Amino acid sequence: MSEKEIEHHKLIILGSGPAGYTAAIYAARANLNPVMISGFQKGGQLTTTTEIDNFPGFPEGRDGNELMMDMEKQALRFDTKIIEDEVIKTQLNQRPFILETYSKKYSCDALIVSTGATAKYLGNPSEEKFKGRGVSACATCDGFFFKGKDVAVVGGGDTAVEEAIYLTNFCSKVYLMHRRDELRASKAMQARAFENSKIEMLWNTELDQVIGQDTGPLEDVRVFNNKTKEYKNIGVKGLFIAVGHKPNTEIFESQLDKDENGYLITKPGSTKTNIEGVFACGDVMDSKYRQAITAAGTGCMAAIDAERWLAEQ
Ligand SMILES: Cc1cc2nc3c(=O)[nH]c(=O)nc-3n(C[C@H](O)[C@H](O)[C@H](O)COP(=O)(O)OP(=O)(O)OC[C@H]3O[C@@H](n4cnc5c(N)ncnc54)[C@H](O)[C@@H]3O)c2cc1C
Repeated sequence: MSEKEIEHHKLIILGSGPAGYTAAIYAARANLNPVMISGFQKGGQLTTTTEIDNFPGFPEGRDGNELMMDMEKQALRFDTKIIEDEVIKTQLNQRPFILETYSKKYSCDALIVSTGATAKYLGNPSEEKFKGRGVSACATCDGFFFKGKDVAVVGGGDTAVEEAIYLTNFCSKVYLMHRRDELRASKAMQARAFENSKIEMLWNTELDQVIGQDTGPLEDVRVFNNKTKEYKNIGVKGLFIAVGHKPNTEIFESQLDKDENGYLITKPGSTKTNIEGVFACGDVMDSKYRQAITAAGTGCMAAIDAERWLAEQ
């Protein structure tokens, strides 16, 4: 690591999503004087959405940015120090742990990692344009807004099939479109999809274009059959992209244990990683639920785990 000034803290939290802020609130109230390094996306993924209808305590729903600004205010109220920077390198195989940002180096006795995950998209320009206006990467978050409507899911793995099955709970019809002629999902998941009368498979099919006005909602989706070379509009009002997520774990390469998809591995029933004193919470260690409330829940666990571990030292 380069020569930069080193600042020491007892506990550093990486990331400012629901997991990071919850960890900060709990750690600050336990007198650990936590320092949060927010990362470039201050507030995390929820700052990219306007309607959160499933975070308890807000009967009328809440704007994602406002929810995250409230979490920040609550963390600041208990004297969390927030540094707006991004960690680019870590040394976790020594004590204290060393973190390097663009401007400075930090050392800490305990570290909470809540760097989240990023949904993968197809890279189609029209898909980008309609994000939040009919294009979503989370059926659990946004499916309810399409009650009684026809929607499409893109993908061929377990997540895509799960999302399609979930959407049949309230959508009239769900197209599951996949660029190949067979799914990657497990045989059991495939059987559940094929048995579901609301799901129609669109094989060898790729997104051509999301259709709609410049500022309005998605009006339809145009697809392309890569075998027949035909284009058609499928008459849907929602498009769910389920081609995977990328956990933000590159800076821990060959230090923290990860699963085959790059998610941090924690010891069952805790937020402990393979390195003592390093805890992980939120989407970065959760490939299954990936919700704000579960991120906040594991953020609370990480702060309690860190507090108990520090007390034992
Ligand atoms: C469009 C959209 C809509 C959603 N809607 C809902 C919904 O309605 N309900 C719901 O429950 N969930 C919803 N989700 C999912 C929810 O946003 C996530 O489950 C939740 O934000 C995960 O929280 P987190 O704290 O683990 O991580 P994130 O929110 O991903 O935050 C990660 C943080 O880590 C920081 N970071 C990353 N790398 C570094 C680094 N190297 N150094 C320092 N910091 C770093 C980032 O800047 C960010 O602040 C939605 C997600 C999206 C994308």
